Amino acid sequence: ARKAFKSWSKLNPKERGKYIFRIARMIQERAREFAVIESLDGGKPIRESRDIDIPLAANHFFYYAGWADKLEYAFPNKTPQPLGVAGQIIPWNFPLLMAAWKIAPALACGNTVVLKPAETTSLTALKLAELIRDSGLPKGVVNIITGAGETGTEIVNHPDIDKIAFTGSTAIGKIIQKSIAGSKKKSTLELGGKGANIIFEDAAIDQAVEGIINAIFFNQGHVCCAGSRLFVQESVAEIVIEKLKERISTLIVGDPLDKNTDIGAINSKEQLNTINNYIKIGKKEGGEIYQAKCKVAKKGNWCPPTLFLNVSQSHTIVQEEIFGPVLAIQTFRTIDEVIEKANNTPFGLSAGVWTEKGSKIFKLTQELNAGVVWANTYNKFDPTSPFGGFKESGFGREGGLHGLEAYLKLK
Ligand code: NAP
Ligand code: MG
Repeated sequence: ARKAFKSWSKLNPKERGKYIFRIARMIQERAREFAVIESLDGGKPIRESRDIDIPLAANHFFYYAGWADKLEYAFPNKTPQPLGVAGQIIPWNFPLLMAAWKIAPALACGNTVVLKPAETTSLTALKLAELIRDSGLPKGVVNIITGAGETGTEIVNHPDIDKIAFTGSTAIGKIIQKSIAGSKKKSTLELGGKGANIIFEDAAIDQAVEGIINAIFFNQGHVCCAGSRLFVQESVAEIVIEKLKERISTLIVGDPLDKNTDIGAINSKEQLNTINNYIKIGKKEGGEIYQAKCKVAKKGNWCPPTLFLNVSQSHTIVQEEIFGPVLAIQTFRTIDEVIEKANNTPFGLSAGVWTEKGSKIFKLTQELNAGVVWANTYNKFDPTSPFGGFKESGFGREGGLHGLEAYLKLK
C-alpha cells in the first residue's frame, strides 16, 4: 500500500474516478452473487442483501467516482491532498456495505487502503478483492487482510499507516484511540448507538408502527443506528403497543435465503448469547417482556422479535446497546421530557421523529444530540447523505461531501 501510494496519488484524478466507476459497475453486474454470499455468510434476509446492502454498496462507488476529479470544487481555495495509507477496520453487520463506505471515498481522494473485515463475515470482502483485481486497479492500491482482532491491532500500530478508519464497538474504538494517541495517525470512529424513535400523538399511527418495526428489526437489529428505544406519547401508547404486538406476530423469522423472511439468523452464537443475556437482565430488572411466537428450525441462531414494556431510563436495556431484535418501550407526556430522555445515554448516533407537525420536527432536529435524525422514516441511507455520531458514538462522517474530509488534508 505504501509503494502503491506513490503512483496512485499522482494519477490523474479523472483516471482514478474511472477505476472507481468500473468497480461500481462490476458490483452491479455481480449483484446477485454478492447478495447470496452476504446472506449465507452473515445471516441477513436475502431481500435486504439484494435490495439494500448490495445496491447501496455499488452506489457508494458510483457516487465517489464522481468526486475524484472535483475535489477542488468541494474545498474551494484549498489544495486537497490524500493522507496516504488508510487502515480500515469494519464490523460484521453490513460487511460489503461497510467496505464500500470505507474504500470508495479513500480511493477517490487518492489514498491506498488496507482493510480488515470482521472474522465472522469476510467472504464478500474477499469477493470484492477478487473483483477489484479483475477491474485492473493497480496492484497494492486496495489490500484486504482477513483475521481476528489482533490483525486489527497490527494495522492500528503499523508505522506505515497514516489514517485509521474504524467502524465497530465503542469499547474497541476507545482502545484504538489510546493506541494512536500522540502518533501522526488521524482517525475517524463510527461506534455504537442506542437510537431513540419518538412517536407523537399526531403521527400517522400505522405508518409509525411500520417505521418502528423497520427501525428495530431491520438486519435482526444488528444495526448501529437501530431505533432500539421507543418513546410513545402517553395518549397513543396503548394503541401503538397493541398494533406492534399484532404486527410482530406476522414477522417471519427463519432461513435467510428465503425471500419471504423478515428476520434472518443472528450473526453468531456469541452474539445470540449477548442478546439472550440482555433479555435476562431486562426481565430481572423488572421489564415486562412480550415475544412473538415463531416457528424456527431447531438448529441455528434465532431470536424472536422482542418487546420490553415497563422500563425506565435506569434500566440496563435502555442504556446499553444490545445489537439484536429487542425494543425497549417507554412513554412520555411532553416534548421537553422526551428530548431529555432521548439524549440521556452515552451514545449520540441516531434518532427518529414521527409527527405531522413541522415545528416539532424542527425543534427535535435542533435539540436531539444525534448525528442523524430521521423524520417520518427510519434507516434511510444514501451515498449523498453524511452519516456518523456524537458523544461515544464516535466522530467523523461517512457519505456525502463530508465523507471526503476523512481522507484528505487541506493545504
Ligand atoms: P467490534 O468487536 O468492535 O469489532 C469491529 C472490528 O474491529 C472487527 O473487524 C474486529 O475484528 C476488529 N477488532 C477487534 N478487536 C480489535 C482491536 N483490539 N484492535 C483493532 N481491531 C479490532 O465490533 P463488532 O462486534 O464487530 O460490531 C458491532 C459494533 O459495531 C456495534 O457496537 C455497532 O454499533 C458498531 N457499528 C457502528 C456503525 C457506525 O457507523 N457507527 C456501523 C456498524 C456497526 P473481529 O470481528 O475479527 O474480532
Ligand atoms: Mg467483536
